[in-house]
Amino acid sequence: MPDTTHPNSWDARAKSSSFFGFTDLPSIEARGTVVLTHGEGPYVFDTEGRRYLDANSGLWNMIAGFDHPGLIRAAQEQYARFPGYHAFFGRMSDQTVMLSEKLAQVSPFESAKTFYTNSGSEANDTMVKMLWFLAGAEGQPERRKILTRGNAYHGVTAVTASMTGKPYNSLFGLPLPGFIHLTCPHYWREGRDGESEAEFTARLAEELEEVIAREGVDTIAGFFAEPVQGAGGVIPPSAGYFDAILPILRRHKIPVIADEVITGLGRTGEMWGCESYDFVPDAIISSKALTAGYFPMGAVILGPELADRLQRATREVEEFPHGFTASGHPVGCAIALAAIDLVETELLDRVRALTPSFEAGLARLAEHPHIGEARSRGLMGALEAVRDKETKAPWDGDLSVSERIANTCTDHGLICRPLGQAVVLCPAFIMTEAQMAEMFEKLGAALEEVFDGLT
Ligand code: PMP
Repeated sequence: MPDTTHPNSWDARAKSSSFFGFTDLPSIEARGTVVLTHGEGPYVFDTEGRRYLDANSGLWNMIAGFDHPGLIRAAQEQYARFPGYHAFFGRMSDQTVMLSEKLAQVSPFESAKTFYTNSGSEANDTMVKMLWFLAGAEGQPERRKILTRGNAYHGVTAVTASMTGKPYNSLFGLPLPGFIHLTCPHYWREGRDGESEAEFTARLAEELEEVIAREGVDTIAGFFAEPVQGAGGVIPPSAGYFDAILPILRRHKIPVIADEVITGLGRTGEMWGCESYDFVPDAIISSKALTAGYFPMGAVILGPELADRLQRATREVEEFPHGFTASGHPVGCAIALAAIDLVETELLDRVRALTPSFEAGLARLAEHPHIGEARSRGLMGALEAVRDKETKAPWDGDLSVSERIANTCTDHGLICRPLGQAVVLCPAFIMTEAQMAEMFEKLGAALEEVFDGLT
């Protein structure tokens, strides 16, 4: 444990100087913070010299590890060439143009246009504003409601927090009106007694029909979905889910937006999560792996129909009055070009090669009597802790069981993330088989230690 008593310790300095987001304050007051200095491959090192295997690739984003020479070189070279510019007033850097061309090429769209932001939240927020802008321009100003799902995570701005189906947003008086959350497509937890997975999927499709009828199709601007829910606890949809709901959305001409902030660029074993589930959305939201976490960047990748409609709508009022100072930053774009190249030439193959041992490791730990479900797609996975495997009864929330597991892992040099009562793993694509084995060994030991202490 860090020396939290010394006023000049990094821990004390972090606590007295910084306001923490998404952090259990009582827990860090008791345990101390972890202040990091550098990384090597999938490992990070703290100010005390301790090494941690980061099983979450930072926040799902550091797909190439923490010291990739090619990405660092791309950044250095671009900093030397042209260290910053914007994308307003018809000006943008050559790197920005090249990245948009590259994204169109690797996207599932026949043609695409990309708009840049600094984060995933801003990209989803921008997409909503684009849909609202279209509604106004196309003479249907009442078409503003946004459909998402329970447990979805789309960001933290006022709009994207409203899209996010997490109870904590009520602390901010959110969601705003007009943000509608459908049932989370998690059969294991949401399926009713005696309901088959096919029946569950059919029920969710019926619910969608009912919500559209209730709200009025003319009031709905769009539907957003993560192909695999990430921060909801890694939830791949129930079997046949997208096949069941997409025809309904298509019939009602409701734009379908794939939030691929986590799933985009290889995580699921395909370039895009929507390809893993065999559908082409109307737009893709990308971030995280886009720059392998080496630069803050998000992107709205518009498929041809939305791009054309937005172009037409914009021409009528002259401009789309929206953009961020650092939209399309040349250094971010240069890094993204290098990152996408890396995914195409090496990392997608690595994800596919590592997936069997990832699935096997999760399945092995799921044999534990207090693990209710292992779920994964490609290299994103979760283990759901339960008090009773038979009834799926969760642990008493006051026991903070997943936090205990994650804290025990940290004590043993492994960083993984508690989400609800699940523990989430999202390894870097550059992990070796030996590092994968180390990850499961440490997590397995932590599970034993925590569950032994609770029973
Ligand atoms: N969408 C999804 C699916 C995400 O997982 C996240 C972040 N975890 C976001 C949006 C928001 O991205 P950011 O944190 O970059 O704003």
